[in-house]
Amino acid sequence: MTANAARAAFAIEIRERYGDVAGNRWPVSVDPLPDELVSSWLHRLALANGIAPRSFAGVLGLSERMWSPRLDTRLPRHVATFLCHQTGRATEEISAMTMSGYAMAPLLLPLRDSAHRNRSTWMQYCPLCLAADEAPYFRRQWRLALRASCFAHGCGLRDRCPACRAPIATFDQGEVVAQHFCARCGFDLRAAPKTAVKASARRLERAIADICRVESGTGSAATSDVVSRVLCAPAFVDIGSTGTLRNLSTAARIRCFELLAAKSLDWLVTDKDAATAHRRRMILAAGGHDELIARFADFLDKHQTRPRSMRQTLPCAGLADVLTAYLRVAGDRRHRDLGVPQPQ
Ligand SMILES: [Zn+2]
Ligand SMILES: [Zn+2]
Repeated sequence: MTANAARAAFAIEIRERYGDVAGNRWPVSVDPLPDELVSSWLHRLALANGIAPRSFAGVLGLSERMWSPRLDTRLPRHVATFLCHQTGRATEEISAMTMSGYAMAPLLLPLRDSAHRNRSTWMQYCPLCLAADEAPYFRRQWRLALRASCFAHGCGLRDRCPACRAPIATFDQGEVVAQHFCARCGFDLRAAPKTAVKASARRLERAIADICRVESGTGSAATSDVVSRVLCAPAFVDIGSTGTLRNLSTAARIRCFELLAAKSLDWLVTDKDAATAHRRRMILAAGGHDELIARFADFLDKHQTRPRSMRQTLPCAGLADVLTAYLRVAGDRRHRDLGVPQPQ
């Protein structure tokens, strides 16, 4: 075969040396996905480079059993620097995948992977989310005790493999197998049966999550108050003799939210200042922050006299701005018309 014929058959061309392009970086890079945990990204990174997650701990110089979940809560500077160097990702981008500095840190599920049947595990998942993912991955929001259902699919989360009942232990996976397969028995977690959750419980869960999110931006006092009340929620419905919400399995927390949804919500507002109590009641009544904003926007659209062109920025307004505008426009009678509880 002549040189010209070889070039035609194999399209050979001289490119940069691989080492000049990749340097000392790992051969395969993996893009972080929306809301992905750093542990999930590291598992995918390890597998993409042909290394089992359990062995990848040694690559990072780590020896603890739950090595990757520990990085979710605290990423040592030298590990962050090493990852930055090996992947070309910015340190800030890697740190943003952790839960360190998270305002609601007391609501994180505790790190334990060998839990009693009714106790929490460190990680939850939605089988339908995993099934819809091009590259199945684990979300930061699934680490939170106040989350027990998937807002996208309307089903309950799971915290164990339905086949062997083991918690999620990808950090201990000794084979080069994707993380949506159970590390103990190999069950495909995407095939886990859908868990039903009452609509009232999902609505309450969303409202509580929104209250926590809104108040985490208003100061540490408000944050600690709502966190302590949510943690003690099982006591209001006599669930769980072991204490706080973060100790309960996902199934028990779903039951807890269902019972709470059927009761008065005073446990979340009593003894609070009028403004905080009123804000919480309105978010609870609307079923969430976005729903509340939508109600206000709709209300203002019907009652304001300003031209529509001047109201285009309304959906981007902050909650305080919208509340102020609403209270200015609305009288008590209209307040009742919206179905929103009165301030105490
Ligand atoms: Zn889902
Ligand atoms: Zn299993």
